[in-house]
Amino acid sequence: MPLPQPELPEPAHPDVDSMLSRKFGKEVANYFSGSPLNRVSFLRPDHAFLSAALKHPSTSFLLFNKLEPLIKSGTEIAYAKLKDVQPVIGTDPFEKSEEDVIKDYNSSTYVPQVIFLGLDESKEGLVYKEWYKGQPYFAVDVTPKDNVAKAAEELIKDVEGRGLSFSKGRMHLSLPAQEAAIYAEARHLLDWNARNPFCAACGYPTLSVNAGFKRTCPPRDLAASLKNAGVHLGRVVIHSTQPWPYPANLMIGAIGQAIPGGEEIHLGHDAELDDAKWFTAEEVREALRVGTSGLGEEAGPEYKEGGLRLPPKTAIANQLMSAVVAGFASGTPMM
Ligand SMILES: [Zn+2]
Repeated sequence: MPLPQPELPEPAHPDVDSMLSRKFGKEVANYFSGSPLNRVSFLRPDHAFLSAALKHPSTSFLLFNKLEPLIKSGTEIAYAKLKDVQPVIGTDPFEKSEEDVIKDYNSSTYVPQVIFLGLDESKEGLVYKEWYKGQPYFAVDVTPKDNVAKAAEELIKDVEGRGLSFSKGRMHLSLPAQEAAIYAEARHLLDWNARNPFCAACGYPTLSVNAGFKRTCPPRDLAASLKNAGVHLGRVVIHSTQPWPYPANLMIGAIGQAIPGGEEIHLGHDAELDDAKWFTAEEVREALRVGTSGLGEEAGPEYKEGGLRLPPKTAIANQLMSAVVAGFASGTPMM
């Protein structure tokens, strides 16, 4: 049976007479707009405020699993309490100042996204510095992942055991307008944060600040300065490119030089690598001579089992290795 069509939200100033209302009619608020929350954006960098809002007994947490919201039914969002989400987000994710969070940034530790949505000033709740009052709302990403996978799975099992569910598809179009607006704010910010994990200028991991409304590129990343930071690159030069129509790639072949003392391989820095090791120029030269073949094909007759296998000349990887052993980087053939 189709769910009932919800009413549109009441616009903020429906009766204001103005040039616009005389020309275009009464102000309209569309579905997903007209949120009852005051976002108090200027308080977002204030970790003491965020911490107080998080811990207030009136605070509501809207949970998302893979961007699907927790609901009671197609017409009602379900809100959790701090004790429900603490096993996933920790005691207080706003304990430290934003300055310290940026200073201590470590991209190797997954931190579940927590978004401060705003204060519902029509309800009793937190009172902060006398002026700012209302019931605080947060959104939390409880998708089971990395170091919080187990805690998140337990939380999901627990809420589903209470008859709640993570809504699929577009059921949210049947929520009451005010809840739909809170849901829309939460979902688009969770999605935006998840889609922008890297800096557009330098390519390094970014971190979410301002309780989910801003991403910043920290000046340093502890993950990069820990022991085993892997291979340290000095000069990198582009050798050539290769269109790779499977399905629509341009491969860029670059040759980089490891800095002496920075040759240690650490597989943890690249999830795409199964294994890696260093080979001498002579081993590579020999493999280029006897060990190349296409995918699924046998190597040449001189190849000895256990030796290094390499892709054929049609692959840019072969051309890069040939260039290196022929002296592309050093100017003289490598011995
Ligand atoms: Zn950057």
